Amino acid sequence: MLYRERLNPPPYIYPGDEWKIIETRFYPEFLGQMETIFALSNGYLGMRGTCEEGTPFVNHGTMINGFYESWPIIYAEQAFGFAKTGQTIVNLHDLKIIRLLVDDELFNLPTADLKHFNRTLDMKEGTLTRDVLWEMPSGKLVSIKSTRVVSFEHWHLAVIDYEVTLLNSDASVVILSEISPHRTIRGTDGDPRETKVFREKVLISQVKEAKEQQIILGFSTKNSGMSIGCGIDHTVETENAITSKNETAEDEERVVFTVEAQQNSPVRITKWMSFHTSQDTPPEDLCKRVGRTLLRAKKNGFEKLLSSQRHFLKNYWQVSDVQMAVTERRKQGGRTTEQWQQAIRWNLFQLCQASIKTEGTGIPAKGLTGTGYEGHYFWDIEIYVLPFFIYTHPRIAKTLLKFRYSMLDKARQRARDVNQKGALFPWRTINGDEASAYYAAGTAQYHINADIMFGLRKYVEATGDIEFLYCEGVEMLVETARLWRDLGFFSERQNGRFCIHGVTGPDEYNAVVNNNAYTNLMARDNLWYAVATVEELREKDAESYQSLLDKTGLDYTEVEEWRRAADNMYIPYDKELKIHLQDDTFLEKKEWDIQGTPPENFPLLLHYHPLVIYRHRVIKQTDLVLALFLLGNEFSAEEKERNFNYYDRLTTGDSSLSVGIQAIVAAEINNDEKAQEYGRYAVLMDLADVGGNSSQGCHIASIGAAWMVLVYGYAGMRDYGGSLSFNPKLPDRCTRFRFRLNIKKSFMEVELLPEHVIYRLLQGSDLSFHHNKKKVDLTATSAQAVCAYTDASPA
Ligand code: BGC
Repeated sequence: MLYRERLNPPPYIYPGDEWKIIETRFYPEFLGQMETIFALSNGYLGMRGTCEEGTPFVNHGTMINGFYESWPIIYAEQAFGFAKTGQTIVNLHDLKIIRLLVDDELFNLPTADLKHFNRTLDMKEGTLTRDVLWEMPSGKLVSIKSTRVVSFEHWHLAVIDYEVTLLNSDASVVILSEISPHRTIRGTDGDPRETKVFREKVLISQVKEAKEQQIILGFSTKNSGMSIGCGIDHTVETENAITSKNETAEDEERVVFTVEAQQNSPVRITKWMSFHTSQDTPPEDLCKRVGRTLLRAKKNGFEKLLSSQRHFLKNYWQVSDVQMAVTERRKQGGRTTEQWQQAIRWNLFQLCQASIKTEGTGIPAKGLTGTGYEGHYFWDIEIYVLPFFIYTHPRIAKTLLKFRYSMLDKARQRARDVNQKGALFPWRTINGDEASAYYAAGTAQYHINADIMFGLRKYVEATGDIEFLYCEGVEMLVETARLWRDLGFFSERQNGRFCIHGVTGPDEYNAVVNNNAYTNLMARDNLWYAVATVEELREKDAESYQSLLDKTGLDYTEVEEWRRAADNMYIPYDKELKIHLQDDTFLEKKEWDIQGTPPENFPLLLHYHPLVIYRHRVIKQTDLVLALFLLGNEFSAEEKERNFNYYDRLTTGDSSLSVGIQAIVAAEINNDEKAQEYGRYAVLMDLADVGGNSSQGCHIASIGAAWMVLVYGYAGMRDYGGSLSFNPKLPDRCTRFRFRLNIKKSFMEVELLPEHVIYRLLQGSDLSFHHNKKKVDLTATSAQAVCAYTDASPA
């Protein structure tokens, strides 16, 4: 189903600019969304784009990846094996607040008479700047300029450079640089995608130090046993007379600057902010680290930080950028090159912001732009964002997989908790324990095991990192294969085929079903990969093989069993419709009347009891269609087309994880209209607030899918079994489309032009792949191939 059938075209309010997101006036109506769009983060520390003054706000959100509080899940009716402990990312103290008083008048954004307003996220500079001109009732003109940075180089550091200038008179200026304890944000309101709101105080105060213009606080959490140190310090630059004093009281900390400001003489205050967190270091020690970070930052200065941001991003864009140009069609409301480029880059910038520091953590479903989904890690990581990192920043892909490996023992325990052998990775988690209290749409998604192993396989195939596979990877393969073998059974009623019952596939609108095709196909892939890897290891690396036996107690007969299960995997199919079935009973359900459902009743999950949804034939997000993409080499072209056409009609797209995948498969089956429609929605998911909930944070899976739409969709890249192929098709109105890939440490560039496609080897050893059916070899002496779209032979 096309979104436009049930949604108005989403508003897109940003003037076109290839590298910047610009807000030209203050939009109170988009406050929450803007906090997400203008959020800054570095994978460790995230700060939402709330204004410096602290109010108004929807969620002021300052978050540290993996810093959570736990709480006992209270079930009205308990059952065996239910997850016991919830985990919620903590909304930390807001260190950003800088309030301004001029002649004792408080600058208040919503009511101020603004002669000028501009807020810009600069994706080349890594800065968020705001430039405001305030005319006071007295006629005094006050220029307020700020630049905010969350450092990519120094993960524990953020800064706001704040400058106030009286333009047409002198005035007395007071600047309050505050630390504000986390404030209550909107509760879940029945929306399961939002975060839990703690009624009680989460952070217990342990340290409070204030000297001169510096304040440092230390806390610990009550239940999860984590500690944190945070603090602020300042650098002041002005020719005006200025004094400062420290004011700390219960739950209120600030440094007050009082200035006798002369006309046209700026007051510049650089506010340094730092956070350090730990699971095992006491807050006192973390506070010392905060002190050291602040000291070093002040010493190095703001300009140096700016140049390190610029330098970092230059390197990032070098490999990650995707360039796109389109013909102008302004009159018909078409987006311009600048707008496309802007939207594409915003997505890629989010991937950078969400991941640069992810050692020991995953990537939350909202990155660090919001507290939605409680800061949890889902399969979003492996299926949606890992491909981008595998082909652009394999180091990050590896740290994400290593993070899963670090959870393996807990996954083993979780399997025991739900009466299975092997390991079961949690559906949603921060610390490795299952945090889903709703098993039907949570724990029952056993496919997470296969998704992680699929990500592992893709990583190893693209990078050749056999060492990781033979050490950490294979151990995860053994334990996940064990789970599948134990979970399923050889069914007499299905002629001895291997069936897996009582699971939920990616589509959460069909819960606890038998033989979800996606799950069975992915489990088969997981089992086959486990068999192949264990056999390879046994043959090639006796030492690692022995270590595997020691770590897992593997008995070789198990491997035979995995092979038998995989070879006999039951994949439901309907001979009449000639389609694969999403699950055994999918066709038996009554079809949901999507067209007859009022638009305001979407997403269905917010308007219908789950059982009503479960007993209907209706789809939240791609399920079988996702398998058509991930395991596309296991389906014929006709099967893909028939399946897509059947399932697409039933798909509400109530999850943002859907449209990107629909776009890729539509492109493959030459349904260009849908490919472009869905592709647009994936790329604009947050900037145009397609799902209506961007205020809770960005949709990191959809953002990863946006990159996939460009690379797997438009350039038609496929990487089955590690062999690369392209089947490119330039989208409508597109005149140029270019991106780069890192393949086994070589860099290549793919450029789609209206007449032909150019492949270039930019760096590294030879690369071979297919352009349509034609083999292409790029070598040092022949580093470029120009291929025609039609005949697929080099021109
Ligand atoms: C989707 C899941 C996804 C989660 C977090 C849910 O709405 O159904 O597939 O993992 O959001 O993004």
